[in-house]
Amino acid sequence: MKAIKALDIIREMESFFKGIVQINKSLCGYTSIKIGGIAALFLEPQSNIDLGLVIQLFKLNNIPFRVIGNGTNLLIDDGRLEIAVIKLSSLFFKEILLKENVLYLRGGVTLAQLLNFSIKNGISGFEFLAGIPGTVGGALVMNAGVRNSLWAARVEESFLCVSDTLIELEVMDGQGEILKLTKSDAGFVYRGSKLNDLIVLGASFKIKKSTIKNVAELVKTFLKKRKMFQPKCSRSAGCVFKNPPGGGISAGELIEKSELKGWRIGQAQVSEIHANFIINQGKATFSQVCELMDFVQSKVNQNFGVKLKPEIEIWNEQGL
Ligand SMILES: Cc1cc2nc3c(=O)[nH]c(=O)nc-3n(C[C@H](O)[C@H](O)[C@H](O)COP(=O)(O)OP(=O)(O)OC[C@H]3O[C@@H](n4cnc5c(N)ncnc54)[C@H](O)[C@@H]3O)c2cc1C
Repeated sequence: MKAIKALDIIREMESFFKGIVQINKSLCGYTSIKIGGIAALFLEPQSNIDLGLVIQLFKLNNIPFRVIGNGTNLLIDDGRLEIAVIKLSSLFFKEILLKENVLYLRGGVTLAQLLNFSIKNGISGFEFLAGIPGTVGGALVMNAGVRNSLWAARVEESFLCVSDTLIELEVMDGQGEILKLTKSDAGFVYRGSKLNDLIVLGASFKIKKSTIKNVAELVKTFLKKRKMFQPKCSRSAGCVFKNPPGGGISAGELIEKSELKGWRIGQAQVSEIHANFIINQGKATFSQVCELMDFVQSKVNQNFGVKLKPEIEIWNEQGL
């Protein structure tokens, strides 16, 4: 990958950029699994205008960029990455607006913030997101959600996804232009969408009015269920593999039946609690996690003829 002339870019940004820009920024602390190397540039824009101008500058200078949410679905190479990483962390990107039966959320709002707001205002429809540690942007890109059979009997659908109640999205493209997308434009599928090359600025959702008590109770139910099957160690990136299509046996069950719970490579370990989680036991490296993922995939394939596909996104030279 071509080295970014970070200082030259920062000089060009001086005249317009109102946010924060840093060079040679470690990404380790920005991921939940606590693995990640150095990004040549790290930016926290202050507004859509700031962001748009920076994207135009990147386009002009051929600078590859990626957006990071809460880094809870990412495995990032622990070497150097010649990219610019953008984080929508300023107050502007944390705005929540409620107008009648529509809730507008900017891309940097965390799901925890969304749930607090939902409880305070008696808004129903987002309770199943309780305990998913991402942002609205990351959740939409991944179409985050839960498998209902594992959760509350009070909800009818078998999968609940963040896109279920989505009305429309506001995104920025690679030219720095702001576009509106409908739900069908976004191409949502199980744990995925067509949003990867866009920046999610915000989205509006249809809401159901309920009571503070009912929303708080349902959130509590979802959190309780999550506590029962999710590892307590916070250094993970959630489920590593997608469940195979068809709604039958889950990836976690296939890994467990392959007797891989607790299997370790270096400091990377298949969780003893939930076999589809890989835990960083302290100093796990990017390659240890990748090796463990390869090992799990080949064992499950050998035992059941199923090729598990990663749910987590990998950022390395090849994957960018
Ligand atoms: C303990 C734990 C439990 C979890 N449980 C679940 C679960 O039950 N269900 C589930 O679906 N997931 C789960 N996850 C995975 C993860 O939390 C979700 O996928 C989450 O939605 C990712 O959001 P994020 O902000 O962390 O995104 P990141 O991990 O930062 O990024 C994920 C992808 O989204 C992109 N992205 C992020 N923000 C934007 C934006 N504004 N615009 C454009 N692209 C963007 C990134 O470039 C990347 O491609 C879990 C993770 C952990 C650690």
